[in-house]
Amino acid sequence: MIHDFTIGRSDFSVTVYVPWNCTNNCKFCPSKKDYETIKGDFGRLKQSLLLIRKSILPIVVFTGGEPSADVDKLQELLSMVDNKVVYINTSLPKRNSKEFIDIVNHTECIKSISISRHEPTYEADSKLLHHIVEDEVIATIKKPVRINVVSQKDDTFSIGNIANYVERWSKVAKQKEGGAGTLVLNLRGNYCQQKKEELHEMTNNKVINDLARTYYYQSHTFCNVCDTCTFLKRNEKRESELTICYHRGMMTTAVPFGNIIELNDLIILQNGDICYDWDGKKEGISTFLDIIQQK
Ligand code: SF4
Repeated sequence: MIHDFTIGRSDFSVTVYVPWNCTNNCKFCPSKKDYETIKGDFGRLKQSLLLIRKSILPIVVFTGGEPSADVDKLQELLSMVDNKVVYINTSLPKRNSKEFIDIVNHTECIKSISISRHEPTYEADSKLLHHIVEDEVIATIKKPVRINVVSQKDDTFSIGNIANYVERWSKVAKQKEGGAGTLVLNLRGNYCQQKKEELHEMTNNKVINDLARTYYYQSHTFCNVCDTCTFLKRNEKRESELTICYHRGMMTTAVPFGNIIELNDLIILQNGDICYDWDGKKEGISTFLDIIQQK
């Protein structure tokens, strides 16, 4: 069936899987299996990025795998989309960390990076993620940083556990170059378990209720595939010490409405394939790519 496509959320992103695997094995990883079965193709990936460069799409997110695993080739990819707003997801391993942070600090198109840290302490994170940099190193990043914590167990976001994450990352925010306002603690619900009918539930959501009782509610933003509530931790002088987000997302980013499909992300796989959903759907996508080219 041929579909018509429409663009959904205002921060529509192109997510690019770099052709370098990471050395971790997180249980909840959505991409590990693909890295075992899809062979990376750097040349084809660059051709796909050229289409994105010429398109009206504003945002590119590099993810993995591990984007910092080959910093020279990462720079080549960055130069292809330096007319876009760029974000990078990383677990920030020690290997190449100096060069990678230097690139982040000095490449204008990179507006922020997301760093995976799923446990309340550095020691526990070090058991889950291979050879990662210490928290003090994260404080040296001059661009905004989002710390991504994915819920792994029922009690990951119990209020006591959240307090441990908040204590750890408030300390880093205080030390961080660029100021406390440039570090966000992003608590992510497990998207594999997210029910569509509960995506925007506020009143009966325990995590939101706990956060609202303990921190200062700031805002609620949402689209058809995700939902984010933002809170602030303030000190006695009511100054903001840390921004805390609670983010819920669906396993799918394409939403069908009859014969029209609302797209909220484009996905470029490590072999250069351009898809319109996380499961690799791409039927009819070339028509969409033609329409979004800048005239
Ligand atoms: S670090 Fe990221 S890419 Fe690597 S296994 Fe964990 S979730 Fe997957």
